[in-house]
Parts: sequence; structure tokens; C-alpha cells
Amino acid sequence: MDMRNKTVLVIGGSRGIGAAIVRRFAGEGAQVTFTYAGSKEDAQRLAAETGGTAVHSDASDRDAIIATVREAGSLDVLVFNAGVLVAGDPLTLDPDAIDHLIDVNVRAPYHASVEAAREMPEGGRIIVIGSVNGDRMPFSGLAAYALSKSALQGMARGLARDFGPRGITVNVVQPGPTDTDMNPADGELAEQMHSVMAIKRHGTAQDVASLTHYLAGRYASGITGAMHTIDGGFGA
Ligand code: NDP
Repeated sequence: MDMRNKTVLVIGGSRGIGAAIVRRFAGEGAQVTFTYAGSKEDAQRLAAETGGTAVHSDASDRDAIIATVREAGSLDVLVFNAGVLVAGDPLTLDPDAIDHLIDVNVRAPYHASVEAAREMPEGGRIIVIGSVNGDRMPFSGLAAYALSKSALQGMARGLARDFGPRGITVNVVQPGPTDTDMNPADGELAEQMHSVMAIKRHGTAQDVASLTHYLAGRYASGITGAMHTIDGGFGA
């Protein structure tokens, strides 16, 4: 199996896309550690199911996320998946909620990626889950979320340059509408999203996990500083 003996840390692995990524890597033989913040029971269930290790770590706490990555030791693969969505009129949204979004979606992936790179061996992989909203934002009310996902693009391009000489790749996976708690396929905005998609349905967390797994694998050693969109044509 592709991932046998590989050490993988998934930040935000308790539910949705992160849980699918944990299942995929563990199923391929990797030693998987994953973090959770609020979903302890889901995390414990997933650890029992996959043989992975669940660690409580709130990604909005900079020191905690750095410590978690350091304690995980030398990683072959870091997947930063944790993310939050805040939607609404920017004139009335709670500024603390926006700052929390920026802490989880931008500050944490930067510090986690840099910390992981310290001990990462040649051939290491850093993969961040962004969004097609980093490229396209066809709806109102999501400026802060789009800001956070665009920021990951600049981060990946820059860190790819920093760590490329050591054979470490840095990539962003950019899902479109994907059926999870954050964005249910039967949610009230689903029809509006499908209206701008070439393939008019939500994608699955398993699809996103497969692309992530590919980028972590041996055939992706020359792919870096790049955005990999999997969005059913949302941005086409
Ligand atoms: P969910 O809301 O279903 O799951 C979010 C995951 O992130 C949970 O495991 C949650 O853990 C974790 N998380 C959130 N906040 C924190 C935190 N402070 N510390 C640690 N973990 C945290 O979302 P999705 O699975 O849909 O989204 C996963 C990623 O994919 C996100 O980055 C999202 O922006 C991105 N994405 C999703 C799309 C979609 O349509 N679903 C589309 C494009 C991008 P816990 O519950 O334990 O707190």
C-alpha cells in the first residue's frame, strides 16, 4: 500500500472532509494522528474505526496548534483541513467571529505548515484544504471566508519556494460544494450553488480525500505551489 509506514497528521479530522481523509490514509496503511476541537465523540469513534489517534487541539489557539504539530514528531504528510464558515452581511457580522475564522482558516495553517516543515524528511507533503471560493465568489455574504481561502494560495506558493529545495511539496486542494455538516447537499442554499455548477450536485468528502491522497503519493513529487480544484465546475 502506498502509505504504509508513512506518518500523517490531519488537523481537523473529526468530521466531514477531514474524517474522509483520515479514513483514506489509514486505509492505505498510514499511521494517522488527527485533531478535533468540539467533536470528541466523533473523534473517538473515528479513532476506534480506523486505528488512528485522536488528539484534542483547538486550531484557533496558535501555541496549541504549534505544540500539537511538534509533538507529532517527524511527519511525512501534514493535511490541514480544519475550517470554519461565517456567512452574513459584513456590516452586521460579529467582528470576533471574523477574527476566529481568520485564526482557524489562515493563521493556523501557516504556523502548522512551518512547524511541520522543521522536521519533515525529503519527500514530505504539506496539503491544505482551501476552497474554490479562493478563486471565485459568486454569492454575497462570504467575503471573509473567501479572503481566508485566497490567503492559502499565496501561502502555498511562498512555502513551496521555501521548502522545495528539500523536496517538500506544498499544495492546496480546493473543493466546491461538498456534502458535509458545513454544507449539506439538501441545505437551503444547495439549489443556488448547483445553478452555477457544470455538474449540478454536491461532491463527496471521499472525492476530496482521493485527490488529497494522490497529492501525498509518490507520483505527485513534482507538483507544488499549485491549486487543485475539485468543484463540479463551480468555477468553470
Ligand atoms: P465540517 O464543518 O463538516 O467539519 C469541519 C472540521 O474542522 C471538523 O472536523 C472540525 O472539528 C474541524 N475544526 C473546525 N474548527 C476547528 C478548530 N478550531 N480546531 C480544530 N478543528 C477544527 O466542514 P467540512 O468537512 O465541510 O470542511 C472541511 C474543510 O473543507 C474546511 O476547511 C472547509 O472550509 C473546506 N471546504 C468545504 C466545502 C464544503 O462544501 N463542505 C467546500 C470548500 C471547502 P470539531 O468538530 O472537532 O471542532
